[in-house]
Amino acid sequence: MAESKRILLAEPRGYCAGVDRAVETVERALDKHGAPVYVRKEIVHNRHVVDTLAERGAIFVGETDEVPEGAIVVFSAHGVSPEVHRTAAARSLKTIDATCPLVTKVHQEAKRFARDDYDILLIGHEGHEEVEGTAGEAPEHIQLVDGPDSVDNVTVRDESKVIWLSQTTLSVDETMETVRRLREKFPELNDPPSDDICYATQNRQVAVKAMAPRCDLVIVVGSKNSSNSVRLVEVALQNGAAASYLVDYAREIDPSWLEGVSTVGITSGASVPEVLVRGVIDFLGDYGFADVETVTTAEETLTFALPRELRPARTAK
Ligand code: SF4
Repeated sequence: MAESKRILLAEPRGYCAGVDRAVETVERALDKHGAPVYVRKEIVHNRHVVDTLAERGAIFVGETDEVPEGAIVVFSAHGVSPEVHRTAAARSLKTIDATCPLVTKVHQEAKRFARDDYDILLIGHEGHEEVEGTAGEAPEHIQLVDGPDSVDNVTVRDESKVIWLSQTTLSVDETMETVRRLREKFPELNDPPSDDICYATQNRQVAVKAMAPRCDLVIVVGSKNSSNSVRLVEVALQNGAAASYLVDYAREIDPSWLEGVSTVGITSGASVPEVLVRGVIDFLGDYGFADVETVTTAEETLTFALPRELRPARTAK
């Protein structure tokens, strides 16, 4: 008898509260103001989401100086530095800030510890938009630590006044290793007041850890520039999956990946709409993967209110 082929589906996966809010922000802005609505950077790091919003009339730009004076611009979920707010104001742009509240929380921490004259070691990936935004809050106090191997290069002014903060979408395990190395070097290193790696990033990694040891292959749906999606591939490989690949769409799956495979795990990054996961399940169904078992490690109920400019007006009593 042929070995049964099955799919394990990680839960939670896909959209987090911050992405949901950011995507809805652009949709509501288009409904309210009509096209075009300008968006600085990709609203979230997902090809499908960006293409779909572009079809509806969103225009994605690299910087605010590409936006016509006086027009509406939405800032992405990854956050922006104060300098971006200043240049937008100088061009009289009408801004709608879709920065995830959990990124804003890290900005507030950066401002607070900079005010108290700490050296802030920001663990994150060089060049990522979120890191650029956070570092821009206090460039003279913040230095980037891009993983455990960067620790050797870190120097501080006063070893008794050092704190680490982080990007929200990192690998929890790798970040803890970076912190361990930093603490070896600076024993008085302070921890952030609360976790900077957000609940959604952590939950998706925990679900993959639970699923990966049972999988011959883990397919992560997500875009290559999505930090939390790329981390899920790493987590799958580090926790027992024989192979793991990142795909934007089902059509990117190479059928040779499925040779000799009986269990495929599927998850998706925090910026990935569920329709793309369904596409992968359907694709695998054509190759005989009919059984789908959900591996649930947490339930998520968090939601965020839309930016003030887009909330329904209150009616007077
Ligand atoms: S991944 Fe986390 S920080 Fe990023 S938008 Fe989602 S909830 Fe916010």
